[in-house]
Amino acid sequence: MLNINEIRKQFPVLDQQVYGKPLVYLDNAATTQKPLCVIERERDYYLHENCNIHRGVHYLSQKATEAYEHARQTVADFIHAKEAKEIIFTRGTTESLNLLATSFEHLLPPLRGGQGGVNTDSQPIVLVTAMEHHSNLVPWQQMVQRHQGKLLVVPMDDHGVLDLEQYEKLLKEGPKVVSIAHISNVLGTINPVKEMVKMAHQYDIPVVIDGAQSIAHYSIDVQDLDCDFFVFSGHKMYAPMGIGGLYGKAEWLEKLPPYQFGGEMVDTVSFEKTTFNVLPYKFEAGTPNVGAALGLETAIQFMQSLDRKEVEEHENQLLQSAIEQLSEIDGIRFIGEAEQRSGLVSFIIKGVHPYDLGTLIDKMGVAVRTGHHCAEPVMTRFGIPGTVRASFALYNTLEEVEIFVKAVKKAAMMLR
Ligand code: PLP
Repeated sequence: MLNINEIRKQFPVLDQQVYGKPLVYLDNAATTQKPLCVIERERDYYLHENCNIHRGVHYLSQKATEAYEHARQTVADFIHAKEAKEIIFTRGTTESLNLLATSFEHLLPPLRGGQGGVNTDSQPIVLVTAMEHHSNLVPWQQMVQRHQGKLLVVPMDDHGVLDLEQYEKLLKEGPKVVSIAHISNVLGTINPVKEMVKMAHQYDIPVVIDGAQSIAHYSIDVQDLDCDFFVFSGHKMYAPMGIGGLYGKAEWLEKLPPYQFGGEMVDTVSFEKTTFNVLPYKFEAGTPNVGAALGLETAIQFMQSLDRKEVEEHENQLLQSAIEQLSEIDGIRFIGEAEQRSGLVSFIIKGVHPYDLGTLIDKMGVAVRTGHHCAEPVMTRFGIPGTVRASFALYNTLEEVEIFVKAVKKAAMMLR
């Protein structure tokens, strides 16, 4: 059995008072806290190994390079990629998605008359879903608009479940790429991504999975999912900020042009011509965040040191308990009621503004997120200004869930 008390000792940040109350941290979908081992790994790198990588022949540079490439292999193994070169280190999900949108854009036929010219073939270019985070919407939308193409959107029902019949219809319109959230950061819906990948592949359409909200909660096997790309952020899985990843099937990464240019990503350079480096370096221009990559490796080792099935069960228990207790509140409306859901609960209470509720329970020591959660179209879909969102991590306890619900009940009474 998971020993949560022991686990919490690894997270000193949780052991503090805010406004004189013990901190209850339920904003894990925004970012998780970091265990001591991760903090120490990054510190250790700066104390003993700091050096620019891939460029030096001297001891420290080689040591840092080896550590960085070891971290890449660890990430590859963690999500079951075939080869380490299929892992590109990025700043996180947002950068990974911008990389993909930009690179895919370069594969599109040029506009007639150059930039600002005319698209003679205004075909659908990208298919996303109605529940995407802005990070998996705006980069694609901008790219599509530059090409005067169409952005297709898979609708969802009132429970926050995608309409797969519509999805199939939209696939027939022939988008060049599909990009979908594995788990919605607002609704908690777990999308049937494996099935959706299979459906898209019947039309030879590549699929990107936004794994920002899934990687901390579930074992990811990119070969089993058969996705073409999988993107994630380290800071949502107990690793430092400023590091994340992009997995891509080697054949796709070979085909896509580089995203940024500069040092490290080149093979030869002259004033007339530049040739590019091999994978994965082709996509890693400039000096990377080596310390954070090593922290990410340690975060993965930390997660692997626990029984992931037990973690899943524990987190599910937290969620079920929160839903059950919150249901007692008069006028509560859950936003996102899919059967397959995970990690978080979003809600509004009649007559109470989410922002006021969040602010009041903060004074009681409870940290939740309020607002549109970087998914404004989801708010529009449900006709609401925002929600209160409580999101769970492996170090949260059932007692914390109780404190949270009591705080919500008290705040709702005060505000109505
Ligand atoms: N996609 C989803 C589903 C998210 O929940 C988030 C962050 O909340 C992102 C993308 C963006 O992640 P980041 O800000 O780490 O790049």
